Amino acid sequence: MKAAIFDEPGLANLKVMDNVNKPQINDHDVLVGVKVAGVNPIDNFVVSGALPKLIPLPNHIPGAEISGTVEELGSHVKKNYLKMGDRVILHNKVFDGTCDMCLNGHDMICRSGGLISVITNGGFAEYISVPERNVFKIPDSLDWDTAASLPVTSLTPYHALKESSLKINEYIVVFGASGSTGMIAVQLAKKMGAKVIAVSRHSWIKDSEFGGADYLISDYNRVADEIKEITQGKMADVVLNSLGVETWENSYASIGINGRWVTFGTLSGPDIKLNLQSLYTRQIKLIGSTGGTRRELQEVIDMAANKEIRVKIWKKLKLDSVKEAIEALSAKERDGRILLEIT
Ligand SMILES: [Zn+2]
Repeated sequence: MKAAIFDEPGLANLKVMDNVNKPQINDHDVLVGVKVAGVNPIDNFVVSGALPKLIPLPNHIPGAEISGTVEELGSHVKKNYLKMGDRVILHNKVFDGTCDMCLNGHDMICRSGGLISVITNGGFAEYISVPERNVFKIPDSLDWDTAASLPVTSLTPYHALKESSLKINEYIVVFGASGSTGMIAVQLAKKMGAKVIAVSRHSWIKDSEFGGADYLISDYNRVADEIKEITQGKMADVVLNSLGVETWENSYASIGINGRWVTFGTLSGPDIKLNLQSLYTRQIKLIGSTGGTRRELQEVIDMAANKEIRVKIWKKLKLDSVKEAIEALSAKERDGRILLEIT
């Protein structure tokens, strides 16, 4: 099969080859023919070697956010749910289903788990083999580009918003609001009844089609001042910031008393300086969030099928252009999602 593959980390080492072995499936596995894959920071971390342990290596295939069709079913896969040719997306977590976290429904933080594309091969390839419990059917009405924007791009902010306990009429500030996860966070926070303040250089995030943020702050140097004006001095109830250290001080200064600061990524670096006194005297909560549950993935599928999740696509490239796609993640002029059309 055709796949993007590397023997050693480093974008220069990533090659697209036509003669990669098609994956074998076990009794409980499903072979999926990949249609469209999302390109996310996690793929850059995998390819660049920023993650400590890749399995397998050599011959590693990246690609964490996958949509496609069922091409082969293992002999023990329950036939009452999945059939050949079904359109599907893949939950990208490896989990054992038996540890205390899994038993509590938190399979994304399974004690012996990890990410598909990190501790297994990913989906920048014509085919991927995954356990049947990772396979979720999508309706025919759902287009491939949106489908390939659900397992990471939509699930991650959805779970983070739930972790933040965002309530109706609360003020939420979304940093990087026109980024992939940011635009979904804006849409979902609106749906949850919050007043959404988008921090972004792109004004389309105020358009109802792609978010409908209530307020837009485009000057990153004036974020706290403008939030003070908007909230009449109270500041934000929830701040969502996955941009990392570059926006830490601005985002922390935006939280009000009893507020929650939430992150699921560190695009510009992870190390911050924090004054603990300012944290406890204002009763602020710092919340880390990762991925989402399988139930939440089904919920985002249902919302997307109902046209309640819209994705703005910037670039859709062929698998041969995988390097360009990964490089484009950090392009200054980036304006929306990057996808790979595999087949
Ligand atoms: Zn587990």
